[in-house]
Amino acid sequence: MLDVLIRGGQVIDGTGAPRRQSDVAIVGDRIVEVGLLPQATAARVIEASGSVVAPGFVDCHSHTDWSIQANPTAESTIRQGITTEIVGQCGWSNAPVSEASRELITQRLGTYAYHDPIAWSSTGEYLEFIGRMGTSPNLAWFVGHNAVRAAAGVIGPTATEAQMEQMEAYVAEAMEAGCVGLSTGLEFEPGRTAQTDELVRLNRVAGGYGGIYASHIRNRDAAIFQAIDEFMTIARAGGGRAEISHLNVRYNTGAPDRAWERAVEMVEGARREGVDVMADTTPYTEGIGQMAGILPPWVLAHGSARAAEALKDPAVRARLRGECDRYWRFIHRGEWGRVRMLGSAEFPELSGKSLAEVAAIWDKDPWDCYFDVLAAAGSGLDSVIVVAELFTPEHVADMIGHPLFSLGVDSFSSRVDGPLSERTRHPLSFAGMLHYLAYHVRENRTLSLEEAIRKMTSQPADHHGLAGRGRLAEGSFADLVVFDPGHLEEVSTLEQPLAYSRGIDYVLVNGAVVVDGGEHTGARPGRNLLR
Ligand SMILES: [Zn+2]
Repeated sequence: MLDVLIRGGQVIDGTGAPRRQSDVAIVGDRIVEVGLLPQATAARVIEASGSVVAPGFVDCHSHTDWSIQANPTAESTIRQGITTEIVGQCGWSNAPVSEASRELITQRLGTYAYHDPIAWSSTGEYLEFIGRMGTSPNLAWFVGHNAVRAAAGVIGPTATEAQMEQMEAYVAEAMEAGCVGLSTGLEFEPGRTAQTDELVRLNRVAGGYGGIYASHIRNRDAAIFQAIDEFMTIARAGGGRAEISHLNVRYNTGAPDRAWERAVEMVEGARREGVDVMADTTPYTEGIGQMAGILPPWVLAHGSARAAEALKDPAVRARLRGECDRYWRFIHRGEWGRVRMLGSAEFPELSGKSLAEVAAIWDKDPWDCYFDVLAAAGSGLDSVIVVAELFTPEHVADMIGHPLFSLGVDSFSSRVDGPLSERTRHPLSFAGMLHYLAYHVRENRTLSLEEAIRKMTSQPADHHGLAGRGRLAEGSFADLVVFDPGHLEEVSTLEQPLAYSRGIDYVLVNGAVVVDGGEHTGARPGRNLLR
C-alpha cells in the first residue's frame, strides 16, 4: 500500500513540459509512480482534481538562514510552496564563527529574533545544530565569504598569507560538511574590500569539491561590465559552475545604456565558451539591501561598533553626506521615498516606513534619520536591512521571462506573530514566490505556468547540484505542492504585510505533509541537502 496518493490532478513536472492529468504515488520520502492509477490505495489520499500538482518550489536565493533559528517551521515561505531554500547567499552565512566574528554573528541572529548563545564554530557543527533543531523546508547551504573573512579576522584589502590559508581552511571545512559552494557579497563590508586574487583562491578550494560559485557582484551600475568580468575570472578558477545572484540594474543609478541586455550577452558568451554560468532574479520592483551599504570603506574600516560610534559625530555626518554615492545611489541623490526600513532590532516600529516617512515622524532631516538608525545599531549596524523601489516593471518582466534566469525571492522566511514579524513588514517574506504565479503568470502573462515552475524547480535544483529535487518523476524525492492556479492569493500588501498567502493547499516535504488543506501541520521533515 502507498503512503500518499495524490489523485486526479494536472501534473506539471518541472521540466517545462505541458501539464497532463496524472496520479502521483508516494512511499516513504519518494515518488514511486506517476500515471493513471485507478486501482491504487493509500493510507492518505489527497484529491487534486481541478488542481495543479508540481514539484515543491526551490528558492534559489534565500536569506532564510537569518531567521530559521527563530522560525524553524518557516511559516511564511512553506505556505507559498517553497520546499527547498538555498541559503547562505551574498557572502553571509552563520558559520564559520571564531572569537573574531562571534559578536557579528550574534548581532545578526539577534536582529532576526534569535537570542540563544551561538553554540557552534565550524560549518559542520552549525549544520548539525540545524539538523537537531529540525526545519519544515529543506535547506541547501552556501558558505559565505563575509563570514569566512570575518572569522579569519581580516581587516582591509589584503589578507596575510596565514589569514589566506585560514580562509581556505574554512572554505574546505564547509565544503566537506556538505555546502553546495561559496557565495560572495561584493557590495558589502567586508567582502567589497577583498581583491580578486583572494576570491580566486577561495573559489579554487570550493571548486575542488565540485562547488558552485554564487555572487552578489561588485557593481551593477557604472562598472557592471568590469564586475561581470571579475565574476567570470573567479568562476573559471573554480571550474566554471556559477550563478550571478539577482543580476539586475537599478533605475536612475548611472548605468550605461542597455546595461542589463549587454550583461546578459556576456553571460551567454561565457556559456558558449563552456562556463556554466546562470543568473537569478527577484519578484518585485522592490528589493532588499543593507542599510550600511552606502557608507564608504573608511567609516567601516575598524568594524561595525566603531563605525556606529563615528556616525554620532556631526563632522563625520557632514563628510558622509557627500561620500555615499555608491550601492543604492538613489539614496545619495535624495530619493528618500524609494527606501523603506525593514529589519532593525532597535526600531521595529519603523519597519515598512519609508525614510521620507521616518523623517516626518522624527521631524528631522532624512540623512540624520539614516545615520541615527545605523548609529543606534552599534555592532549590529551590518545587519540592518532596508527595502527599496529598485526596478521598473518592464525590467522585472524581462528578467523573469529570460530562460537563463531562475526565480528567487532574496528575502527570508518570517511569521505573522512574535518579534520576527516586527522586522519583516514587507510582502517579500510573505508572498515573494507566490507573486511570480499570481501576478507574473496569471495577471501580467509574462510567462506560462509551466515555464515559471521550471524556473523555480528543475533549473535551480540542477544548477545547484540538488540530486533528486526539482522534478515530479518516479524516483524523485516527494517534495510536492498542490494548488488551484485560479485561487492563489498573495494577501500580504505594503499596507498590511503581516498575512500569509493563500491557495497552496498541500505541501509535502520528503513525503510528509507540512501544509494540509492550507494549514501548517507543524511538521519539520526538512533536511540539510548536502552536496
Ligand atoms: Zn544580494
